[in-house]
Amino acid sequence: MDGMSPVRQFLCAALLTPVLFAQPDIPAWCRPLPRAEYQGLERVPVKDPWFEVYRVAPGVSAIYEPHQSEETISYLIAGRKQALLFDTGMGISDIRRIANGLTRLPVVVLNSHTHNDHVGGNWQFDTIYGMDTAFTRANAPGSRDAAQAEVAPGEICGKLPPGFDRKAYATRPWKITAFKHDGDRIDLGGRSLEIIATPGHTPDAICLFDRDHGLLFTGDTYYPAPIWLFRPETDLKAYHASIRRLAALAPHVRMVLGAHNVPVAPPTVLPNLVSAFEAVRAGKVSAAPDSPGKVLYTVGDFRFLMQSP
Ligand SMILES: [Zn+2]
Repeated sequence: MDGMSPVRQFLCAALLTPVLFAQPDIPAWCRPLPRAEYQGLERVPVKDPWFEVYRVAPGVSAIYEPHQSEETISYLIAGRKQALLFDTGMGISDIRRIANGLTRLPVVVLNSHTHNDHVGGNWQFDTIYGMDTAFTRANAPGSRDAAQAEVAPGEICGKLPPGFDRKAYATRPWKITAFKHDGDRIDLGGRSLEIIATPGHTPDAICLFDRDHGLLFTGDTYYPAPIWLFRPETDLKAYHASIRRLAALAPHVRMVLGAHNVPVAPPTVLPNLVSAFEAVRAGKVSAAPDSPGKVLYTVGDFRFLMQSP
């Protein structure tokens, strides 16, 4: 205490209290929320406040989880016979209920890759396609550590769902119904999705291409935020080949739909991503220190989080 009179102490406390309550400790990552890009999107009301849902193209809903730092986006893509859920999010709330509220069609699951933030709700579904890789098989039993890191202090913005048990949170195991391969097509009835294997971020990373509608779902191979390329399972050479393959598709793409932060990007991001990544690989971009062992490269709108050289 500084020897202030009780009256002054009371007045100071009275003046400061509303300020303190008005500015709770908000994690830095969630200060830009809601992101401006969402204003132009058609929001679909859902009852569960953990999710926000946007109709981004006919028959395509983006299922966004804005209250956790990954800001993961899963996509429900509907045909006439069935719907495909491309990723199942964090597993923090009930994505199956969201999917069933959006469509009456049977829902099959395919993951953009099997990092924990994209497979959290897999266990809730009966039909789960998996890529035929050792990495996919190794992740299907689930895990606890990666999930626990997602709910550490500073990772949550706003309220966790009622009844969510933070200490027990883990990625639950799922059963792979059938394996898929590069070039396979999934017929949803009046809508065909082509699997494009894009290893790099992980060995089982894929993109989904709805060629008739020009929609390219890119998972974590591209999204408009720092792209994570620092993990041991990341292969930079494979990533380079994969993004070059995507850039070649750009003339046939109308919309690029990534798996974090913001769901819609123009096809020009595909060739520009290649140029930005090549500049980094050629040593033309200076590295900014990030967390220990990692550096961030920024090239225009693109950012790559990579291992320290
Ligand atoms: Zn990932």
